[in-house]
Amino acid sequence: MKTISLQNPGEFRICETAEPEKLKSGEALIRVGKVGICGTDIHAYAGRQPFFEYPRILGHELGVEVLEVAPDVTNLEPGMHCAVEPYLNCDRCKPCALGRTNCCESLKVLGVHIDGGMRERIVVPAKKLHKSNILSLEQLALVETLSIGAHAIQRAKLDAKESVLIVGAGPIGLGALIFAQLYGAQVVVMDVNQRRLDFCQQNFNVDSTVCVGDNSIDEIKDYCKGLPTAVFDATGHLGAMESSFDYVASAGRLVYIGFQRERVSFPNPEFHRKEISIHSSRNSVSEDFRKIISWMEEGAIDTNPWITHSLQFDNIVAKFPTLNDPEEGVLKAIVDF
Ligand SMILES: [Zn+2]
Ligand SMILES: [Zn+2]
Repeated sequence: MKTISLQNPGEFRICETAEPEKLKSGEALIRVGKVGICGTDIHAYAGRQPFFEYPRILGHELGVEVLEVAPDVTNLEPGMHCAVEPYLNCDRCKPCALGRTNCCESLKVLGVHIDGGMRERIVVPAKKLHKSNILSLEQLALVETLSIGAHAIQRAKLDAKESVLIVGAGPIGLGALIFAQLYGAQVVVMDVNQRRLDFCQQNFNVDSTVCVGDNSIDEIKDYCKGLPTAVFDATGHLGAMESSFDYVASAGRLVYIGFQRERVSFPNPEFHRKEISIHSSRNSVSEDFRKIISWMEEGAIDTNPWITHSLQFDNIVAKFPTLNDPEEGVLKAIVDF
């Protein structure tokens, strides 16, 4: 079957790979319909993704159709459309026992640690498929990206009417934004790039935006009537992550969604004085997928602004390198398989 393999940084190869083996207990065979491209894929292509091994079949944001299920799988039938939760966990370690399958001690993410969905067919555990009778394969391919933001909001246990700051207006920050809005929070988005903020203002009905500068903290205080009680950092940039600390109100929470390779430090007296809670947010869990699919089905999430670029199987090799070009203004590119 047709497959796109990332052989080395900067080198895709279109090749034929073997058909999946016979289904084992709990498994499903799926046809890959749409594949979303995200920062992880772009970093892997650029050779910047830590601990990444080549060759690798990328693809972890998948809108798929069920082709066949093992005899013991009762919740799915051939023909159903699903989003794939690409985080394969062990179900044996302590985090898994706590329901924190997103940070399983031996987590394998499809398309990152093991081969993913940039091929015609693939076998996955049926419990990692989240079905919808209504959504398109394209919408289903967006669910994983959105789930990162939904999970981060869940980590902070937001109250309605809370004032929230989101730092970083990329796809992950915008994901956090829409869920903060769904919870009824008042949201300010901050970024270094005015163009991204304009996009955010035009498409996401955000309360306010702040471009990073000398007065950012005053602007944020103005909008939030004091410092925000929940701050979400979606930059993965050390300087921004350390500055985010300064924006959190007393008794507030700081959630780091992005990450980078260095140590992050913060002033201990401020941490103590304000009794700040700091959370990390990694991947997402099944519950996030189910919630997003039902919100999408109800029309509470508008998926229209999300897909800015479409690629075909035949032009992905040529087009992929352009996706990182800021001039392209890519929010989400989806490959049609
Ligand atoms: Zn992704
Ligand atoms: Zn585990």
